Amino acid sequence: ETYVVWFRNDFRFHDNPAVHAALNEAQESDGNILFVFHLHPDFTGNTDLSNDYFFQTVRDFAEECEKINVKLHIISGTPKEAFDLLTERVGVINTVYHARDFTPFALQRDEEVRHTLQKHRIRLESVRGNYIHEPFEITKNNEEPYKVYTPYSRQWLRAEKTSLVQSDPDDISRFYGRIKAVDAESEKTFSTILNNCSSNWKKIGEKAALHRLEFFIKNVLSRYHHTRDLPEKAGTSRLSPYLRTGTLSVRQVYNAAAVQLEGKNNEGPETFIKELAWRDFYTMILTHFPETAEKEFQEKYRDLSWNNNQDHFSLWKQGMTGFPIVDAGMRQLNQIGWMHNRLRMITASFLTKDFQMDWRLGEKYFGEKLIDYDPASNIGGWQWAGSVGTDAVPYFRVFSPVRQSERFDPDGSYIRRYVPELKDVPDKFIHEPHKMPADIQDKASCRIGKDYPEPIVDHKQERKRAIAMFKEEGELL
Ligand code: FAD
Repeated sequence: ETYVVWFRNDFRFHDNPAVHAALNEAQESDGNILFVFHLHPDFTGNTDLSNDYFFQTVRDFAEECEKINVKLHIISGTPKEAFDLLTERVGVINTVYHARDFTPFALQRDEEVRHTLQKHRIRLESVRGNYIHEPFEITKNNEEPYKVYTPYSRQWLRAEKTSLVQSDPDDISRFYGRIKAVDAESEKTFSTILNNCSSNWKKIGEKAALHRLEFFIKNVLSRYHHTRDLPEKAGTSRLSPYLRTGTLSVRQVYNAAAVQLEGKNNEGPETFIKELAWRDFYTMILTHFPETAEKEFQEKYRDLSWNNNQDHFSLWKQGMTGFPIVDAGMRQLNQIGWMHNRLRMITASFLTKDFQMDWRLGEKYFGEKLIDYDPASNIGGWQWAGSVGTDAVPYFRVFSPVRQSERFDPDGSYIRRYVPELKDVPDKFIHEPHKMPADIQDKASCRIGKDYPEPIVDHKQERKRAIAMFKEEGELL
Protein backbone atom coordinates (compact mmCIF):
# COMPACT_ATOMS: atom_id res chain seq x y z
CA GLU A 1 0.00 0.00 0.00
CA THR A 2 1.14 3.50 -0.77
CA TYR A 3 1.02 6.59 1.43
CA VAL A 4 1.22 9.70 -0.68
CA VAL A 5 2.59 13.06 0.46
CA TRP A 6 1.04 15.86 -1.52
CA PHE A 7 3.39 18.87 -1.28
CA ARG A 8 1.79 22.29 -1.63
CA ASN A 9 3.60 24.82 0.51
CA ASP A 10 5.89 22.69 2.60
CA PHE A 11 8.87 21.94 0.34
CA ARG A 12 11.25 20.74 3.02
CA PHE A 13 12.49 17.70 4.85
CA HIS A 14 12.96 19.22 8.32
CA ASP A 15 9.88 19.43 10.55
CA ASN A 16 7.50 18.21 7.88
CA PRO A 17 4.44 16.64 9.58
CA ALA A 18 2.99 15.29 6.30
CA VAL A 19 6.20 13.41 5.47
CA HIS A 20 6.45 12.25 9.05
CA ALA A 21 2.88 10.89 9.13
CA ALA A 22 3.18 9.08 5.78
CA LEU A 23 6.51 7.55 6.69
CA ASN A 24 5.21 6.32 10.05
CA GLU A 25 2.26 4.64 8.37
CA ALA A 26 4.44 3.04 5.72
CA GLN A 27 6.86 1.75 8.34
CA GLU A 28 4.08 0.27 10.44
CA SER A 29 2.25 -1.41 7.58
CA ASP A 30 5.30 -2.28 5.52
CA GLY A 31 4.00 -0.08 2.75
CA ASN A 32 5.73 2.66 0.82
CA ILE A 33 5.56 6.40 0.38
CA LEU A 34 5.32 8.57 -2.70
CA PHE A 35 5.76 12.33 -3.18
CA VAL A 36 3.58 14.35 -5.55
CA PHE A 37 3.16 17.94 -6.59
CA HIS A 38 0.00 19.06 -8.36
CA LEU A 39 0.27 21.75 -11.02
CA HIS A 40 -3.06 23.53 -10.73
CA PRO A 41 -4.35 25.04 -13.99
CA ASP A 42 -4.96 28.40 -12.27
CA PHE A 43 -1.21 28.83 -11.87
CA THR A 44 0.22 27.42 -15.04
CA GLY A 45 -0.79 30.12 -17.52
CA ASN A 46 1.01 33.17 -16.14
CA THR A 47 4.66 33.68 -15.49
CA ASP A 48 4.75 36.47 -12.98
CA LEU A 49 7.50 36.89 -10.41
CA SER A 50 5.49 35.27 -7.67
CA ASN A 51 4.76 32.11 -9.66
CA ASP A 52 8.30 31.96 -11.08
CA TYR A 53 9.76 31.89 -7.61
CA PHE A 54 7.31 29.28 -6.46
CA PHE A 55 7.98 26.92 -9.37
CA GLN A 56 11.73 27.30 -9.04
CA THR A 57 11.37 26.34 -5.40
CA VAL A 58 9.52 23.20 -6.47
CA ARG A 59 12.34 22.40 -8.89
CA ASP A 60 14.94 22.87 -6.18
CA PHE A 61 13.00 20.53 -3.93
CA ALA A 62 12.72 17.93 -6.71
CA GLU A 63 16.52 18.13 -7.09
CA GLU A 64 17.02 17.67 -3.36
CA CYS A 65 14.73 14.65 -3.51
CA GLU A 66 16.84 13.14 -6.29
CA LYS A 67 19.89 13.40 -4.05
CA ILE A 68 18.34 10.86 -1.71
CA ASN A 69 17.11 8.77 -4.59
CA VAL A 70 13.53 9.91 -4.37
CA LYS A 71 11.32 11.33 -7.11
CA LEU A 72 8.87 14.19 -6.73
CA HIS A 73 6.12 13.21 -9.18
CA ILE A 74 4.28 15.94 -11.03
CA ILE A 75 0.57 15.65 -11.81
CA SER A 76 -1.52 18.29 -13.56
CA GLY A 77 -5.01 19.24 -14.68
CA THR A 78 -8.06 19.98 -12.58
CA PRO A 79 -7.91 18.47 -9.10
CA LYS A 80 -10.26 15.73 -10.29
CA GLU A 81 -8.24 14.91 -13.41
CA ALA A 82 -4.95 14.96 -11.57
CA PHE A 83 -5.98 12.76 -8.68
CA ASP A 84 -7.98 10.34 -10.83
CA LEU A 85 -4.83 9.83 -12.86
CA LEU A 86 -2.72 9.40 -9.75
CA THR A 87 -4.96 6.63 -8.45
CA GLU A 88 -5.00 4.96 -11.82
CA ARG A 89 -1.21 4.94 -12.19
CA VAL A 90 -0.07 4.21 -8.66
CA GLY A 91 -2.12 1.16 -7.72
CA VAL A 92 -3.23 0.79 -4.13
CA ILE A 93 -3.12 4.12 -2.33
CA ASN A 94 -4.18 4.10 1.30
CA THR A 95 -3.95 7.76 2.26
CA VAL A 96 -2.90 11.09 0.79
CA TYR A 97 -1.32 13.41 3.37
CA HIS A 98 -0.99 17.14 3.07
CA ALA A 99 -0.24 20.16 5.22
CA ARG A 100 -3.27 22.26 6.11
CA ASP A 101 -3.73 25.47 4.17
CA PHE A 102 -6.57 27.84 4.96
CA THR A 103 -6.90 30.16 1.99
CA PRO A 104 -10.33 30.11 0.33
CA PHE A 105 -8.67 28.78 -2.84
CA ALA A 106 -6.92 25.94 -1.00
CA LEU A 107 -10.03 24.93 0.95
CA GLN A 108 -12.08 24.62 -2.20
CA ARG A 109 -9.38 22.70 -4.05
CA ASP A 110 -8.95 20.32 -1.12
CA GLU A 111 -12.68 19.61 -1.09
CA GLU A 112 -12.54 18.67 -4.77
CA VAL A 113 -9.62 16.36 -4.13
CA ARG A 114 -11.31 14.82 -1.09
CA HIS A 115 -14.38 14.12 -3.18
CA THR A 116 -12.32 12.56 -5.98
CA LEU A 117 -10.33 10.36 -3.64
CA GLN A 118 -13.42 9.25 -1.73
CA LYS A 119 -14.73 7.65 -4.89
CA HIS A 120 -11.59 5.52 -4.98
CA ARG A 121 -11.93 4.82 -1.23
CA ILE A 122 -8.76 6.74 -0.45
CA ARG A 123 -8.43 8.95 2.61
CA LEU A 124 -7.26 12.54 2.38
CA GLU A 125 -5.60 13.41 5.66
CA SER A 126 -4.60 16.94 6.58
CA VAL A 127 -1.88 17.55 9.14
CA ARG A 128 -0.38 20.59 10.85
CA GLY A 129 1.16 22.88 8.30
CA ASN A 130 2.92 26.19 8.22
CA TYR A 131 1.56 27.93 11.26
CA ILE A 132 2.64 28.21 14.85
CA HIS A 133 -0.99 28.32 15.96
CA GLU A 134 -3.74 27.37 13.54
CA PRO A 135 -6.93 29.45 13.17
CA PHE A 136 -9.07 27.44 15.57
CA GLU A 137 -6.47 27.15 18.33
CA ILE A 138 -6.50 30.71 19.62
CA THR A 139 -10.03 31.90 20.34
CA LYS A 140 -11.83 33.93 23.00
CA ASN A 141 -13.19 32.11 26.06
CA ASN A 142 -16.55 31.73 24.35
CA GLU A 143 -14.75 30.22 21.32
CA GLU A 144 -15.52 33.24 19.15
CA PRO A 145 -12.63 34.40 16.97
CA TYR A 146 -10.66 37.46 18.00
CA LYS A 147 -11.06 40.53 15.83
CA VAL A 148 -8.23 42.58 17.28
CA TYR A 149 -4.56 41.68 17.26
CA THR A 150 -3.45 42.70 20.78
CA PRO A 151 -5.68 40.38 22.87
CA TYR A 152 -5.14 37.64 20.28
CA SER A 153 -1.38 38.01 20.54
CA ARG A 154 -1.46 37.84 24.35
CA GLN A 155 -3.12 34.46 24.20
CA TRP A 156 -0.97 33.38 21.26
CA LEU A 157 2.19 34.14 23.25
CA ARG A 158 0.99 32.18 26.29
CA ALA A 159 -0.29 29.14 24.40
CA GLU A 160 1.83 26.02 24.44
CA LYS A 161 3.77 25.42 21.23
CA THR A 162 3.90 22.03 19.50
CA SER A 163 7.21 20.25 19.13
CA LEU A 164 8.98 19.67 15.85
CA VAL A 165 9.05 16.36 14.00
CA GLN A 166 12.01 14.89 12.16
CA SER A 167 12.17 12.16 9.54
CA ASP A 168 15.38 10.38 8.66
CA PRO A 169 16.28 10.81 4.95
CA ASP A 170 17.58 7.23 4.90
CA ASP A 171 14.15 5.99 5.97
CA ILE A 172 12.46 8.15 3.36
CA SER A 173 14.69 6.65 0.73
CA ARG A 174 14.20 3.11 2.01
CA PHE A 175 10.41 3.29 2.04
CA TYR A 176 10.06 5.16 -1.20
CA GLY A 177 7.90 3.51 -3.89
CA ARG A 178 9.88 3.14 -7.10
CA ILE A 179 7.66 4.32 -9.91
CA LYS A 180 9.44 5.91 -12.82
CA ALA A 181 6.94 8.57 -13.77
CA VAL A 182 3.32 8.91 -12.85
CA ASP A 183 2.62 11.21 -15.75
CA ALA A 184 5.29 12.09 -18.31
CA GLU A 185 3.02 14.74 -19.88
CA SER A 186 2.82 16.70 -16.63
CA GLU A 187 6.58 16.47 -16.21
CA LYS A 188 6.93 18.05 -19.65
CA THR A 189 4.46 20.82 -18.84
CA PHE A 190 6.42 21.59 -15.71
CA SER A 191 9.70 21.80 -17.65
CA THR A 192 8.11 24.22 -20.10
CA ILE A 193 6.93 26.44 -17.27
CA LEU A 194 10.40 26.47 -15.81
CA ASN A 195 11.93 27.33 -19.16
CA ASN A 196 9.58 30.29 -19.47
CA CYS A 197 10.51 31.84 -16.14
CA SER A 198 11.91 35.31 -16.63
CA SER A 199 13.86 35.57 -13.38
CA ASN A 200 16.26 33.29 -11.69
CA TRP A 201 16.80 33.17 -7.94
CA LYS A 202 19.95 31.67 -6.54
CA LYS A 203 19.09 31.67 -2.86
CA ILE A 204 16.15 29.35 -3.10
CA GLY A 205 15.05 26.20 -1.30
CA GLU A 206 15.49 24.56 2.06
CA LYS A 207 19.26 24.87 2.38
CA ALA A 208 19.22 28.59 1.60
CA ALA A 209 16.33 29.02 4.02
CA LEU A 210 18.10 27.32 6.93
CA HIS A 211 21.22 29.27 6.16
CA ARG A 212 19.32 32.56 6.17
CA LEU A 213 17.68 31.67 9.48
CA GLU A 214 21.03 30.96 11.07
CA PHE A 215 22.46 34.22 9.75
CA PHE A 216 19.51 36.22 11.00
CA ILE A 217 19.55 34.72 14.50
CA LYS A 218 23.27 35.26 14.83
CA ASN A 219 23.65 38.71 13.29
CA VAL A 220 20.36 40.59 13.25
CA LEU A 221 17.85 39.34 15.81
CA SER A 222 19.23 41.07 18.91
CA ARG A 223 18.90 44.48 17.19
CA TYR A 224 15.74 43.65 15.23
CA HIS A 225 13.61 46.15 17.20
CA HIS A 226 15.97 48.96 16.13
CA THR A 227 16.65 47.94 12.56
CA ARG A 228 13.36 46.49 11.34
CA ASP A 229 12.01 49.82 10.10
CA LEU A 230 15.06 50.94 8.14
CA PRO A 231 14.80 49.54 4.62
CA GLU A 232 18.42 50.10 3.71
CA LYS A 233 19.77 48.27 6.75
CA ALA A 234 18.68 44.70 5.87
CA GLY A 235 17.42 44.70 9.45
CA THR A 236 14.62 42.17 9.04
CA SER A 237 14.84 38.41 8.62
CA ARG A 238 13.86 38.23 4.92
CA LEU A 239 12.50 34.81 5.70
CA SER A 240 9.06 35.49 4.23
CA PRO A 241 9.62 33.81 0.82
CA TYR A 242 10.83 30.68 2.62
CA LEU A 243 7.83 30.72 4.93
CA ARG A 244 5.48 31.15 2.02
CA THR A 245 6.87 28.14 0.16
CA GLY A 246 7.41 26.20 3.36
CA THR A 247 11.08 25.58 2.63
CA LEU A 248 11.42 26.73 6.22
CA SER A 249 9.28 25.54 9.09
CA VAL A 250 7.82 28.53 10.92
CA ARG A 251 7.89 26.48 14.12
CA GLN A 252 11.62 26.10 13.70
CA VAL A 253 11.91 29.87 13.23
CA TYR A 254 9.90 30.41 16.40
CA ASN A 255 12.06 28.02 18.39
CA ALA A 256 15.28 29.58 17.14
CA ALA A 257 14.10 33.03 18.23
CA ALA A 258 12.54 31.85 21.50
CA VAL A 259 15.86 30.37 22.66
CA GLN A 260 17.31 33.88 22.47
CA LEU A 261 14.70 35.12 24.95
CA GLU A 262 16.77 33.54 27.65
CA GLY A 263 19.52 36.10 27.16
CA LYS A 264 19.65 39.54 28.75
CA ASN A 265 18.61 41.56 25.76
CA ASN A 266 15.09 40.41 24.97
CA GLU A 267 13.63 43.22 22.96
CA GLY A 268 14.82 41.98 19.57
CA PRO A 269 13.48 38.43 19.87
CA GLU A 270 10.27 39.63 21.57
CA THR A 271 9.48 42.06 18.77
CA PHE A 272 10.28 39.44 16.14
CA ILE A 273 8.09 36.77 17.73
CA LYS A 274 5.18 39.21 17.77
CA GLU A 275 5.60 39.58 14.01
CA LEU A 276 5.28 35.83 13.61
CA ALA A 277 2.02 36.12 15.55
CA TRP A 278 0.73 38.64 12.98
CA ARG A 279 1.09 35.97 10.34
CA ASP A 280 -1.10 33.55 12.29
CA PHE A 281 -3.50 36.37 13.19
CA TYR A 282 -4.19 37.27 9.57
CA THR A 283 -4.64 33.61 8.62
CA MET A 284 -7.09 33.28 11.50
CA ILE A 285 -9.01 36.36 10.31
CA LEU A 286 -9.28 35.15 6.72
CA THR A 287 -10.36 31.68 7.86
CA HIS A 288 -13.12 32.93 10.14
CA PHE A 289 -14.16 35.81 7.90
CA PRO A 290 -13.60 34.47 4.37
CA GLU A 291 -15.71 37.27 2.88
CA THR A 292 -12.83 39.65 3.74
CA ALA A 293 -10.87 38.17 0.84
CA GLU A 294 -13.02 40.48 -1.27
CA LYS A 295 -14.69 42.83 1.14
CA GLU A 296 -13.56 45.29 3.78
CA PHE A 297 -13.43 43.86 7.30
CA GLN A 298 -15.14 47.02 8.54
CA GLU A 299 -18.62 46.87 7.09
CA LYS A 300 -19.17 50.62 7.19
CA TYR A 301 -16.46 51.05 4.57
CA ARG A 302 -17.78 48.52 2.08
CA ASP A 303 -19.25 51.11 -0.27
CA LEU A 304 -16.57 53.76 -0.51
CA SER A 305 -16.41 55.33 -3.97
CA TRP A 306 -12.78 54.71 -4.84
CA ASN A 307 -11.18 56.45 -7.79
CA ASN A 308 -10.50 54.53 -10.93
CA ASN A 309 -7.73 56.56 -12.51
CA GLN A 310 -5.82 54.00 -14.56
CA ASP A 311 -3.06 56.49 -15.41
CA HIS A 312 -2.36 56.97 -11.73
CA PHE A 313 -2.44 53.23 -11.18
CA SER A 314 0.03 52.67 -13.96
CA LEU A 315 2.46 55.31 -12.59
CA TRP A 316 2.22 53.75 -9.14
CA LYS A 317 2.99 50.29 -10.55
CA GLN A 318 6.01 51.54 -12.48
CA GLY A 319 7.38 53.60 -9.60
CA MET A 320 6.95 56.92 -11.43
CA THR A 321 4.82 58.97 -9.04
CA GLY A 322 7.42 61.66 -8.34
CA PHE A 323 7.53 60.66 -4.67
CA PRO A 324 10.98 59.04 -4.37
CA ILE A 325 10.23 56.74 -1.43
CA VAL A 326 7.07 55.40 -3.08
CA ASP A 327 8.88 54.90 -6.37
CA ALA A 328 11.82 53.16 -4.72
CA GLY A 329 9.47 50.71 -2.98
CA MET A 330 7.59 49.86 -6.16
CA ARG A 331 10.79 49.41 -8.11
CA GLN A 332 12.19 47.12 -5.44
CA LEU A 333 9.03 45.04 -5.78
CA ASN A 334 9.23 44.96 -9.58
CA GLN A 335 12.91 44.05 -9.56
CA ILE A 336 13.24 41.43 -6.85
CA GLY A 337 9.68 40.42 -5.99
CA TRP A 338 10.09 41.46 -2.38
CA MET A 339 9.52 44.76 -0.62
CA HIS A 340 10.46 45.89 2.86
CA ASN A 341 7.50 46.06 5.25
CA ARG A 342 7.84 49.82 5.82
CA LEU A 343 7.66 50.32 2.07
CA ARG A 344 4.64 48.05 1.74
CA MET A 345 2.89 50.31 4.24
CA ILE A 346 4.00 53.49 2.47
CA THR A 347 3.13 52.37 -1.06
CA ALA A 348 -0.20 50.87 0.01
CA SER A 349 -1.10 54.02 1.90
CA PHE A 350 -0.14 56.09 -1.13
CA LEU A 351 -2.41 54.13 -3.49
CA THR A 352 -5.40 54.12 -1.13
CA LYS A 353 -5.06 57.61 0.32
CA ASP A 354 -3.13 59.84 -2.10
CA PHE A 355 -4.81 58.26 -5.12
CA GLN A 356 -7.90 57.06 -3.23
CA MET A 357 -7.73 53.90 -5.30
CA ASP A 358 -9.29 50.61 -4.32
CA TRP A 359 -7.05 48.49 -2.05
CA ARG A 360 -8.11 45.40 -4.03
CA LEU A 361 -6.19 46.67 -7.07
CA GLY A 362 -3.01 47.01 -5.06
CA GLU A 363 -3.56 43.69 -3.34
CA LYS A 364 -3.84 41.99 -6.70
CA TYR A 365 -0.73 43.67 -8.07
CA PHE A 366 1.31 42.69 -5.00
CA GLY A 367 -0.05 39.16 -5.44
CA GLU A 368 1.46 38.93 -8.90
CA LYS A 369 4.85 40.22 -7.84
CA LEU A 370 5.55 39.20 -4.25
CA ILE A 371 7.62 36.05 -3.95
CA ASP A 372 6.31 35.82 -0.39
CA TYR A 373 2.71 36.32 -1.51
CA ASP A 374 0.39 35.14 1.18
CA PRO A 375 -3.29 36.02 0.63
CA ALA A 376 -4.07 36.37 4.34
CA SER A 377 -1.15 38.70 5.17
CA ASN A 378 -1.48 40.62 1.93
CA ILE A 379 -5.19 41.24 2.34
CA GLY A 380 -4.63 42.06 6.02
CA GLY A 381 -1.78 44.44 5.20
CA TRP A 382 -3.73 46.19 2.45
CA GLN A 383 -6.84 46.60 4.55
CA TRP A 384 -4.70 47.89 7.40
CA ALA A 385 -3.05 50.50 5.20
CA GLY A 386 -6.36 51.43 3.57
CA SER A 387 -7.97 51.92 7.03
CA VAL A 388 -10.69 49.35 6.36
CA GLY A 389 -9.31 46.28 8.16
CA THR A 390 -9.09 44.85 11.67
CA ASP A 391 -6.52 46.98 13.49
CA ALA A 392 -6.45 49.53 10.70
CA VAL A 393 -4.73 52.89 10.97
CA PRO A 394 -7.54 55.40 11.64
CA TYR A 395 -8.51 56.99 8.33
CA PHE A 396 -7.54 60.48 9.50
CA ARG A 397 -3.93 59.40 10.10
CA VAL A 398 -2.61 59.55 6.55
CA PHE A 399 1.04 58.70 5.94
CA SER A 400 2.98 61.60 4.49
CA PRO A 401 5.36 60.08 1.94
CA VAL A 402 7.91 62.84 2.54
CA ARG A 403 7.86 62.50 6.35
CA GLN A 404 8.10 58.72 6.07
CA SER A 405 11.04 59.09 3.73
CA GLU A 406 12.87 61.51 6.05
CA ARG A 407 12.31 59.26 9.04
CA PHE A 408 13.09 55.86 7.62
CA ASP A 409 15.56 56.59 4.84
CA PRO A 410 17.18 59.76 6.20
CA ASP A 411 20.20 59.85 3.88
CA GLY A 412 18.23 58.52 0.91
CA SER A 413 20.46 55.51 0.35
CA TYR A 414 17.48 53.19 -0.18
CA ILE A 415 15.98 55.65 -2.64
CA ARG A 416 19.25 55.98 -4.55
CA ARG A 417 19.59 52.23 -4.83
CA TYR A 418 16.25 51.74 -6.56
CA VAL A 419 15.78 55.10 -8.30
CA PRO A 420 19.15 55.54 -10.00
CA GLU A 421 18.17 58.77 -11.74
CA LEU A 422 18.27 60.36 -8.25
CA LYS A 423 21.71 58.96 -7.48
CA ASP A 424 23.50 62.33 -7.51
CA VAL A 425 20.77 64.42 -5.96
CA PRO A 426 22.11 66.09 -2.79
CA ASP A 427 20.80 64.78 0.54
CA LYS A 428 18.95 68.03 1.11
CA PHE A 429 16.62 67.37 -1.85
CA ILE A 430 16.52 63.59 -1.98
CA HIS A 431 13.06 63.37 -0.39
CA GLU A 432 11.61 66.17 -2.53
CA PRO A 433 13.74 66.44 -5.66
CA HIS A 434 11.24 68.74 -7.41
CA LYS A 435 12.38 71.47 -4.99
CA MET A 436 15.89 71.46 -6.48
CA PRO A 437 16.88 74.75 -8.12
CA ALA A 438 17.67 74.47 -11.82
CA ASP A 439 21.47 74.67 -11.42
CA ILE A 440 21.48 71.85 -8.88
CA GLN A 441 19.28 69.76 -11.17
CA ASP A 442 21.90 70.25 -13.87
CA LYS A 443 24.73 69.29 -11.57
CA ALA A 444 22.88 66.18 -10.42
CA SER A 445 22.02 65.30 -14.04
CA CYS A 446 18.42 65.04 -12.97
CA ARG A 447 16.03 67.43 -14.65
CA ILE A 448 12.63 67.29 -12.99
CA GLY A 449 9.90 66.62 -15.50
CA LYS A 450 12.44 65.03 -17.84
CA ASP A 451 14.69 62.60 -15.97
CA TYR A 452 12.39 62.21 -13.00
CA PRO A 453 8.70 63.20 -12.70
CA GLU A 454 7.15 66.07 -10.77
CA PRO A 455 5.00 64.82 -7.87
CA ILE A 456 1.89 63.54 -9.58
CA VAL A 457 -0.47 64.84 -6.88
CA ASP A 458 -0.44 67.40 -4.08
CA HIS A 459 -0.24 65.31 -0.92
CA LYS A 460 -1.90 67.91 1.33
CA GLN A 461 -4.91 68.18 -0.91
CA GLU A 462 -5.25 64.44 -1.44
CA ARG A 463 -5.02 63.86 2.27
CA LYS A 464 -8.03 66.11 2.78
CA ARG A 465 -9.91 64.36 0.00
CA ALA A 466 -9.21 60.92 1.44
CA ILE A 467 -10.33 61.98 4.90
CA ALA A 468 -13.51 63.48 3.48
CA MET A 469 -14.29 60.29 1.55
CA PHE A 470 -14.00 58.17 4.69
CA LYS A 471 -15.80 60.63 6.90
CA GLU A 472 -18.72 61.32 4.60
CA GLU A 473 -19.26 57.90 3.12
CA GLY A 474 -18.19 55.77 6.08
CA GLU A 475 -20.43 57.68 8.44
CA LEU A 476 -23.52 57.33 6.27
CA LEU A 477 -24.10 53.89 7.71
P1 FAD B 1 10.37 40.13 9.36
O1 FAD B 1 10.21 41.52 9.86
O2 FAD B 1 11.67 39.49 9.53
O3 FAD B 1 9.23 39.27 10.07
C1 FAD B 1 9.32 37.86 10.21
C2 FAD B 1 8.10 37.18 9.67
O4 FAD B 1 6.95 37.59 10.41
C3 FAD B 1 7.80 37.52 8.23
O5 FAD B 1 8.54 36.72 7.36
C4 FAD B 1 6.30 37.23 8.17
O6 FAD B 1 6.05 35.86 8.01
C5 FAD B 1 5.84 37.65 9.54
N1 FAD B 1 5.35 39.03 9.48
C6 FAD B 1 6.05 40.16 9.72
N2 FAD B 1 5.24 41.23 9.62
C7 FAD B 1 4.03 40.77 9.29
C8 FAD B 1 2.77 41.39 9.05
N3 FAD B 1 2.59 42.72 9.15
N4 FAD B 1 1.73 40.61 8.71
C9 FAD B 1 1.87 39.27 8.64
N5 FAD B 1 3.03 38.63 8.86
C10 FAD B 1 4.08 39.36 9.19
N6 FAD B 1 3.69 39.31 4.30
C11 FAD B 1 3.72 38.16 3.62
O7 FAD B 1 4.33 37.19 4.09
N7 FAD B 1 3.09 38.03 2.41
C12 FAD B 1 2.41 39.06 1.85
O8 FAD B 1 1.85 38.90 0.76
C13 FAD B 1 2.39 40.31 2.54
N8 FAD B 1 1.78 41.39 2.00
C14 FAD B 1 1.77 42.59 2.70
C15 FAD B 1 1.11 43.70 2.13
C16 FAD B 1 1.07 44.92 2.81
C17 FAD B 1 0.35 46.10 2.19
C18 FAD B 1 1.70 45.03 4.07
C19 FAD B 1 1.69 46.34 4.81
C20 FAD B 1 2.35 43.94 4.63
C21 FAD B 1 2.39 42.71 3.96
N9 FAD B 1 3.06 41.58 4.49
C22 FAD B 1 3.05 40.40 3.81
C23 FAD B 1 3.67 41.63 5.84
C24 FAD B 1 5.16 42.03 5.89
O9 FAD B 1 5.38 43.17 5.12
C25 FAD B 1 6.08 40.90 5.41
O10 FAD B 1 5.76 39.71 6.07
C26 FAD B 1 7.54 41.24 5.70
O11 FAD B 1 7.89 42.43 5.07
C27 FAD B 1 8.43 40.10 5.23
O12 FAD B 1 9.77 40.41 5.42
P2 FAD B 1 10.66 39.68 6.51
O13 FAD B 1 10.54 38.21 6.36
O14 FAD B 1 12.02 40.28 6.44
O15 FAD B 1 9.91 40.13 7.84
